[in-house]
Amino acid sequence: MDKPAPPTRAEPREIVELRQLKDDQPELATAIDLQIELLQMQRRVQSRVPLPSIDLDPAHLDKALAAGTPILTFDQIPIDWSDLRFLVRSTADAMRTHEAIEPDDYRRVEGLARDAERLAPAIRNWYDAARPAPAGGHEVSPEIAGLEPLVLQAMRPFLSRCADAVMARTLFQGWPHGNCPVCGGEPDFSVITPAAERLLICSRCTSRWRFDQLACPWCLNGDRSKITSFATRDGLYRLNGCDVCLRYVKAFDGRHAPRQVIPSVDAIATLTLDAAAVQRGYR
Ligand SMILES: [Zn+2]
Ligand SMILES: [Zn+2]
Repeated sequence: MDKPAPPTRAEPREIVELRQLKDDQPELATAIDLQIELLQMQRRVQSRVPLPSIDLDPAHLDKALAAGTPILTFDQIPIDWSDLRFLVRSTADAMRTHEAIEPDDYRRVEGLARDAERLAPAIRNWYDAARPAPAGGHEVSPEIAGLEPLVLQAMRPFLSRCADAVMARTLFQGWPHGNCPVCGGEPDFSVITPAAERLLICSRCTSRWRFDQLACPWCLNGDRSKITSFATRDGLYRLNGCDVCLRYVKAFDGRHAPRQVIPSVDAIATLTLDAAAVQRGYR
């Protein structure tokens, strides 16, 4: 009888937590296996991503933030294009193995990854699309439309390296917006601190910034009667649905938690909350 391989020494915390989650909730196994594969390939690349070529002087950062423009422009992201091509391809392969990508989309990704002339402008388009309109925001191009979840994973090592560098120098005070102060991306998770503040977490670069405890990050609705909130039975996770724009954001409630938030783990642990939100008409 084959025994499962023991975890390797010094396995990163997030992967240890994911394996534990798989034991506790085997119905999440497919999503967890995919997440572990993605994290492993991302870590391999991230260890060699250099610092972004931006001015990290706190006074300079504060000035940029006060202007309401996300700090990081596309040209400042330290992308190694052969690493990115590797990540695009291997993310697509992992998603195909776990049936998380449509065959048509898989073929589109293959075509993009093969053609450097097309890949670079497509990635730039994806990055800039999420920024506020005055900072270059727009609709994503048809070439990349539908592939956003994959591009987000492939770009993660480069973007989170930038986010870590910026977060070491600023707390983003004076950034009241619902989109990310570093890359302009949307939040897809949040954490409630023991002091009952709420930090939003960027879906792209994983930056965290303080935001109103209640208001919707998308339409800024702050009317308590138009926000529907529900929690998991253990109280560890919450979800706030906006009854005006119907978007929702999940939260890790650090007031009752035995550990810190780990977005790559907590996003998977809350897939049942996503399902509940969709069932109630949120998106
Ligand atoms: Zn971001
Ligand atoms: Zn809203």
